[in-house]
Amino acid sequence: MGDIIGLYPGTFDPITFGHTDIIRRAVKLVDTLIVGVAINQEKSPLFTLEERVAMIKASLEGMDLSIRGQIVVEPFDDLLMTYAEKRKVEVIIRGLRAVSDFEYEFQMVGMNSFLNEDIETVFLMADARYQAIASRLVKEIAQLGGDINAFVPATVVPQLLAKVGRR
Ligand code: ADP
Repeated sequence: MGDIIGLYPGTFDPITFGHTDIIRRAVKLVDTLIVGVAINQEKSPLFTLEERVAMIKASLEGMDLSIRGQIVVEPFDDLLMTYAEKRKVEVIIRGLRAVSDFEYEFQMVGMNSFLNEDIETVFLMADARYQAIASRLVKEIAQLGGDINAFVPATVVPQLLAKVGRR
Protein backbone atom coordinates (compact mmCIF):
# COMPACT_ATOMS: atom_id res chain seq x y z
CA MET A 1 0.00 0.00 0.00
CA GLY A 2 2.93 2.35 0.62
CA ASP A 3 2.60 5.72 2.22
CA ILE A 4 -0.88 6.85 3.08
CA ILE A 5 -1.82 10.20 1.59
CA GLY A 6 -4.68 12.06 3.23
CA LEU A 7 -6.49 15.09 1.86
CA TYR A 8 -8.16 17.69 4.07
CA PRO A 9 -10.14 19.88 1.66
CA GLY A 10 -11.89 23.12 2.48
CA THR A 11 -12.34 26.77 1.69
CA PHE A 12 -10.36 28.00 4.72
CA ASP A 13 -11.68 31.56 4.40
CA PRO A 14 -9.82 32.09 6.69
CA ILE A 15 -8.22 29.18 8.58
CA THR A 16 -9.52 28.96 12.18
CA PHE A 17 -8.59 27.09 15.36
CA GLY A 18 -11.25 24.56 14.32
CA HIS A 19 -9.26 23.80 11.16
CA THR A 20 -5.88 23.73 12.93
CA ASP A 21 -7.28 21.30 15.50
CA ILE A 22 -8.44 18.95 12.72
CA ILE A 23 -5.01 19.25 11.00
CA ARG A 24 -3.28 18.42 14.28
CA ARG A 25 -5.35 15.22 14.55
CA ALA A 26 -5.13 14.31 10.87
CA VAL A 27 -1.32 14.33 10.66
CA LYS A 28 -1.27 11.51 13.18
CA LEU A 29 -3.24 9.28 10.84
CA VAL A 30 -1.43 9.64 7.51
CA ASP A 31 2.09 9.86 6.12
CA THR A 32 1.38 12.90 3.99
CA LEU A 33 -1.45 15.31 4.68
CA ILE A 34 -2.45 17.55 1.80
CA VAL A 35 -4.43 20.57 2.93
CA GLY A 36 -6.35 21.28 -0.28
CA VAL A 37 -7.65 24.81 -0.62
CA ALA A 38 -10.71 25.01 -2.86
CA ILE A 39 -11.17 28.05 -5.07
CA ASN A 40 -14.90 27.98 -4.26
CA GLN A 41 -15.89 31.02 -6.30
CA GLU A 42 -19.57 30.32 -5.62
CA LYS A 43 -18.97 30.94 -1.92
CA SER A 44 -17.44 34.37 -2.81
CA PRO A 45 -14.52 34.05 -0.40
CA LEU A 46 -13.35 37.18 1.43
CA PHE A 47 -9.70 36.21 0.88
CA THR A 48 -8.08 35.31 -2.44
CA LEU A 49 -6.88 31.77 -2.98
CA GLU A 50 -3.25 32.88 -2.57
CA GLU A 51 -4.05 34.66 0.71
CA ARG A 52 -5.85 31.60 2.07
CA VAL A 53 -2.95 29.30 1.17
CA ALA A 54 -0.39 31.72 2.68
CA MET A 55 -2.38 32.07 5.93
CA ILE A 56 -2.57 28.27 6.34
CA LYS A 57 1.19 27.96 5.78
CA ALA A 58 1.92 30.74 8.27
CA SER A 59 -0.42 29.18 10.85
CA LEU A 60 1.25 25.78 10.51
CA GLU A 61 4.65 27.31 11.20
CA GLY A 62 3.45 28.40 14.60
CA MET A 63 1.98 25.02 15.45
CA ASP A 64 3.46 22.42 17.73
CA LEU A 65 2.69 19.25 15.80
CA SER A 66 3.44 15.72 16.89
CA ILE A 67 4.07 14.94 13.29
CA ARG A 68 3.90 11.48 11.86
CA GLY A 69 3.90 12.67 8.28
CA GLN A 70 4.56 15.79 6.29
CA ILE A 71 2.04 18.50 5.46
CA VAL A 72 1.58 20.03 2.03
CA VAL A 73 -0.68 23.04 1.46
CA GLU A 74 -1.89 23.61 -2.08
CA PRO A 75 -4.83 25.06 -4.01
CA PHE A 76 -7.06 22.97 -6.27
CA ASP A 77 -9.71 23.79 -8.81
CA ASP A 78 -10.75 20.33 -9.96
CA LEU A 79 -13.68 18.34 -8.79
CA LEU A 80 -12.65 17.04 -5.35
CA MET A 81 -12.55 13.38 -6.39
CA THR A 82 -10.61 14.13 -9.58
CA TYR A 83 -8.03 16.04 -7.56
CA ALA A 84 -7.88 13.24 -4.98
CA GLU A 85 -7.24 10.66 -7.71
CA LYS A 86 -4.52 12.77 -9.32
CA ARG A 87 -2.74 13.11 -5.97
CA LYS A 88 -3.18 9.40 -5.15
CA VAL A 89 -5.18 10.18 -2.04
CA GLU A 90 -6.53 7.24 -0.06
CA VAL A 91 -8.35 9.09 2.69
CA ILE A 92 -10.32 12.31 2.62
CA ILE A 93 -10.54 14.01 5.98
CA ARG A 94 -13.39 16.26 7.00
CA GLY A 95 -14.24 17.90 10.28
CA LEU A 96 -17.63 17.51 11.90
CA ARG A 97 -19.03 20.23 14.06
CA ALA A 98 -22.65 20.00 15.04
CA VAL A 99 -25.42 17.84 13.69
CA SER A 100 -25.86 20.60 11.13
CA ASP A 101 -22.73 19.50 9.25
CA PHE A 102 -23.90 15.92 9.14
CA GLU A 103 -26.59 16.05 6.49
CA TYR A 104 -24.39 17.86 3.95
CA GLU A 105 -21.37 15.65 4.62
CA PHE A 106 -23.51 12.51 4.47
CA GLN A 107 -24.70 13.50 1.02
CA MET A 108 -21.19 14.38 -0.17
CA VAL A 109 -19.77 11.03 0.89
CA GLY A 110 -22.64 9.26 -0.81
CA MET A 111 -22.13 11.12 -4.09
CA ASN A 112 -18.35 10.89 -3.95
CA SER A 113 -18.45 7.14 -3.47
CA PHE A 114 -20.12 6.88 -6.89
CA LEU A 115 -17.15 8.72 -8.39
CA ASN A 116 -14.51 6.60 -6.67
CA GLU A 117 -15.47 3.93 -4.18
CA ASP A 118 -11.88 3.23 -3.14
CA ILE A 119 -11.33 6.58 -1.46
CA GLU A 120 -12.63 6.64 2.10
CA THR A 121 -13.82 9.72 3.96
CA VAL A 122 -12.91 9.97 7.63
CA PHE A 123 -14.59 12.43 9.97
CA LEU A 124 -12.78 13.98 12.89
CA MET A 125 -14.20 16.10 15.67
CA ALA A 126 -12.37 19.11 17.00
CA ASP A 127 -11.78 19.64 20.69
CA ALA A 128 -14.93 20.92 22.43
CA ARG A 129 -13.34 24.39 22.76
CA TYR A 130 -13.16 24.75 18.99
CA GLN A 131 -16.27 22.98 17.82
CA ALA A 132 -18.42 26.05 17.51
CA ILE A 133 -15.92 28.00 15.42
CA ALA A 134 -16.93 28.70 11.82
CA SER A 135 -15.08 30.95 9.36
CA ARG A 136 -18.36 32.61 8.39
CA LEU A 137 -19.10 33.70 11.97
CA VAL A 138 -15.53 34.79 12.62
CA LYS A 139 -15.75 37.11 9.60
CA GLU A 140 -19.04 38.51 10.90
CA ILE A 141 -17.55 39.13 14.34
CA ALA A 142 -14.53 40.85 12.76
CA GLN A 143 -16.78 43.06 10.64
CA LEU A 144 -18.88 44.05 13.63
CA GLY A 145 -15.90 45.04 15.77
CA GLY A 146 -15.61 41.98 18.02
CA ASP A 147 -12.49 40.30 19.38
CA ILE A 148 -11.39 37.45 17.10
CA ASN A 149 -8.26 36.33 18.97
CA ALA A 150 -9.95 33.25 20.40
CA PHE A 151 -10.96 31.96 16.98
CA VAL A 152 -8.07 32.31 14.52
CA PRO A 153 -4.27 31.88 14.68
CA ALA A 154 -2.35 35.04 15.65
CA THR A 155 -0.98 35.42 12.14
CA VAL A 156 -4.50 35.60 10.69
CA VAL A 157 -5.78 38.29 13.09
CA PRO A 158 -4.15 41.38 11.46
CA GLN A 159 -4.99 40.15 7.97
CA LEU A 160 -8.64 39.64 8.81
CA LEU A 161 -8.88 43.02 10.54
CA ALA A 162 -7.26 44.68 7.51
CA LYS A 163 -9.73 42.97 5.15
CA VAL A 164 -12.72 44.33 7.03
CA GLY A 165 -11.16 47.79 7.27
CA ARG A 166 -10.32 47.76 10.96
CA ARG A 167 -6.66 48.64 10.60
P1 ADP B 1 -15.99 23.84 3.19
O1 ADP B 1 -16.32 24.97 2.30
O2 ADP B 1 -15.46 22.64 2.48
O3 ADP B 1 -17.03 23.47 4.22
P2 ADP B 1 -14.47 24.96 5.38
O4 ADP B 1 -13.20 25.69 5.28
O5 ADP B 1 -15.65 25.69 5.90
O6 ADP B 1 -14.72 24.37 3.96
O7 ADP B 1 -14.25 23.65 6.25
C1 ADP B 1 -13.35 22.66 5.89
C2 ADP B 1 -13.58 21.46 6.77
O8 ADP B 1 -13.26 21.78 8.12
C3 ADP B 1 -15.01 20.96 6.79
O9 ADP B 1 -15.00 19.53 6.87
C4 ADP B 1 -15.57 21.55 8.05
O10 ADP B 1 -16.64 20.78 8.57
C5 ADP B 1 -14.36 21.48 8.95
N1 ADP B 1 -14.43 22.45 10.04
C6 ADP B 1 -14.50 23.79 9.97
N2 ADP B 1 -14.56 24.35 11.20
C7 ADP B 1 -14.52 23.32 12.08
C8 ADP B 1 -14.58 23.22 13.51
N3 ADP B 1 -14.69 24.31 14.27
N4 ADP B 1 -14.53 21.99 14.06
C9 ADP B 1 -14.45 20.89 13.28
N5 ADP B 1 -14.40 20.90 11.93
C10 ADP B 1 -14.44 22.09 11.33
